[in-house]
Amino acid sequence: MKPLKIRARELDDKDELARFRQSFHFPHTEVDQCVYLTGNSLGLQPKRAAEILNEELEDWARYGVEGHFHARRPWVSYHENLIATAAEIVGAKPIEVVHMNSLTTDIHLLMVSFYRPTVERYKIICEAKAFPSDQYALDSQILFHGFDPETALIELSPRPGEHNLREEDIEAAIEEHGDELALVFFGGVNYYTGQVFDMERITRAGHRAGATVGFDLAHAAGNIPMHLHDWQVDFATWCTYKYLNSGPGSVGGIFVHEKHAEQYDLPRFAGWWGSDKESRFKMNRVFKPLPGAEGWQLSNAPVFSMAPHLASLEIFAEAGMDRLRQKSLDLSDFAREVIEAAAASQGVDVEIITPTDPKRRGCQLSLVVHGRGREVFDYLQSHGAYTDWREPNVIRIAPVPLYNSFEDVYLFGELLGQALKPQA
Ligand SMILES: *Cc1c(COP(=O)(O)O)cnc(C)c1O
Repeated sequence: MKPLKIRARELDDKDELARFRQSFHFPHTEVDQCVYLTGNSLGLQPKRAAEILNEELEDWARYGVEGHFHARRPWVSYHENLIATAAEIVGAKPIEVVHMNSLTTDIHLLMVSFYRPTVERYKIICEAKAFPSDQYALDSQILFHGFDPETALIELSPRPGEHNLREEDIEAAIEEHGDELALVFFGGVNYYTGQVFDMERITRAGHRAGATVGFDLAHAAGNIPMHLHDWQVDFATWCTYKYLNSGPGSVGGIFVHEKHAEQYDLPRFAGWWGSDKESRFKMNRVFKPLPGAEGWQLSNAPVFSMAPHLASLEIFAEAGMDRLRQKSLDLSDFAREVIEAAAASQGVDVEIITPTDPKRRGCQLSLVVHGRGREVFDYLQSHGAYTDWREPNVIRIAPVPLYNSFEDVYLFGELLGQALKPQA
């Protein structure tokens, strides 16, 4: 077998997506090379983001309020610029997707419509160790409806000694709580372990039980290919600043299945941007929801957060999710090899808790260095490798196919080897 360094170079030479690396800004670090492996936490800035943002600022300066209609991308319909590519990324029809607010807000707004507990049917099933914001949202929604999270929220944990949930256990739990189940709400990808859930299978099981099914796609959107429409998912939401590279706190995305597009009797918290476009500026007293996801919008489009997203989506459209996925799998396979080599070279045990099966993982690998995780993380951080630390003991890395190279992964392995050296 050739040395890893040579293999990294050969893989980079063959990589038809390699040129996209030039489209992003990499952070400046004090060491020679920045190895950025935290695109799962905050994606890098597309160089074109500043250009598009600046065009909006220019149009604001030039037109003032008239920019709503006369800007080169009129603000009144700005959100429409994002729909086509975003819909492709999550496997949706255009009518099923819109961008608005931010992720946690969107979870709440969608639960208003899709978590409708009754005395008989009030439970929610989710993964244990969901992201804290999701846990707070679920708890507070349950309380808001007058139920008790202790009994209403079923959090599924992996079996003892295992790190990942088994799909058959999720299915069994859904069946077990069937008659009492109002909602199944899962991450598409667990933020801690990087496990990809079988969204199609979970959706089918949820529907069989008579529940609605929704997903938080914070770690899935732009990471793994999805087919939300075909899978019959009721609703989903995601942030755009992780794999989708749209900048800190940028606008959220939502999906509402076409089957609910004209279900106007669904309760919803309404705002003028969700109301009929023709009569919107007539300032009518009557809310007339738009069909599809647009009908869940509240406010006019946050143009300055959508502009960077537009820049990023242009790149996704060019690269294509299928090619990105293939490179992502190759990158993470290579990362696994590099990590194992680094651990072996130091005689240290590094456990990778992310599933090995390609169907059950995306870009991310979660590493556990027993007893020394924090120290290893600090070493990496101070030597130019951006990884992140998640309590209690995980180092997450995410080589992303848009801008990471195989060389990045190789360099990470070198640094990891140094970090794992037994302390004198
Ligand atoms: C990143 C992330 C969030 C963050 O929510 P915001 O409302 O965007 O601050 C929430 N949930 C999950 C699963 C996440 O990964």
